[in-house]
Amino acid sequence: MSSIYGEITINDFDTLQTLDGSALKEFHEFQDFWLACAERHMSLRPKSPPPEELMKRKQERNRKSLVVALNTYAKRNNMQITDLEFVEEKERNLVGGVAAGYVHSNFVAKGVDGRPTLFFAEMLHGCFLQEHVILCTPLEDTDSGCCFGCNQHARKLRHPTCGGYLGGLEDVPFPYVEEDSDDDCFLD
Ligand SMILES: [Zn+2]
Repeated sequence: MSSIYGEITINDFDTLQTLDGSALKEFHEFQDFWLACAERHMSLRPKSPPPEELMKRKQERNRKSLVVALNTYAKRNNMQITDLEFVEEKERNLVGGVAAGYVHSNFVAKGVDGRPTLFFAEMLHGCFLQEHVILCTPLEDTDSGCCFGCNQHARKLRHPTCGGYLGGLEDVPFPYVEEDSDDDCFLD
């Protein structure tokens, strides 16, 4: 007989045949008990939200993190945070650095005159506070900074030529992927 988690598989039926009546009854009782426990365990597990809900939450988390980056840019340049309005994210990628993983993003924001500007932002991966924003800066048409991480996975993502970002400077793989987390603490 062999068993694996979540399923009982009986390979040696001959052995089962040799059990006497009471042992066989005991075995079936144990099997019923085990299955009842497994079903109860499954029914207590919280149901995962549908994929479209997870995608919506992920987009909302990304949007909020970029609003933090944009506000950080405004504060560091003595602007009012109301001077800039986040519009949409264009590209996003995770890259490796010497000490941490970083998010690289291109997003569009518009000023009070309504003119759209493409920004580059680098933030610590999974962090949403202003001190986690390494760099947030508008891009010029001529900007074409090098990034090994985005070169491989997000070739359209543009970086400032003058640098200032910490991730993607060396050709090191980033071993993580951004998960469709259903952790909604960030939405509070
Ligand atoms: Zn990059």
